[in-house]
Amino acid sequence: MDTYRTLAEEAVHKFGLDPNRVILAVDIAASHGMIYNKNCNPGEFDVRSRNGRGWYHVNTRTKSCTCPDSQLGHNICKHRVAVWLYTQAIVRPHAEARRVEQAIIMQELGYA
Ligand SMILES: [Zn+2]
Repeated sequence: MDTYRTLAEEAVHKFGLDPNRVILAVDIAASHGMIYNKNCNPGEFDVRSRNGRGWYHVNTRTKSCTCPDSQLGHNICKHRVAVWLYTQAIVRPHAEARRVEQAIIMQELGYA
C-alpha cells in the first residue's frame, strides 16, 4: 500500500486534483479485478465502475474515458487516474529491477 500512497501524492500534484478524488482512484487501482487491458488496444483499458455494475473504457492516447463524468467535460476522471496509478505501480518496480526506461516496460506489457 506504500506504493499507492507515494503514487497518490504524486497524482495529486501531477494532475492537480482534489486528494479525495485520488483516494477514489486508489480504491479502484488497488482492488483486484477492476482494471483490464487484455482485450484492448495498447494504451486502452477497461475499468469497472465502482458500484460494480458496468465498465468504462479509458484511452490513454486520446486522454478519454466513457464515464458520465468525462462526458460532461469535467476534470480528469477517477478512472483515468486509476489507470495511471495501476500501470505505474506495476511498471516502476520492473523498470527499476531491470534498469530500463519505464516506456520499455509499458510497451512490453501492452500498456502503451
Ligand atoms: Zn471515467
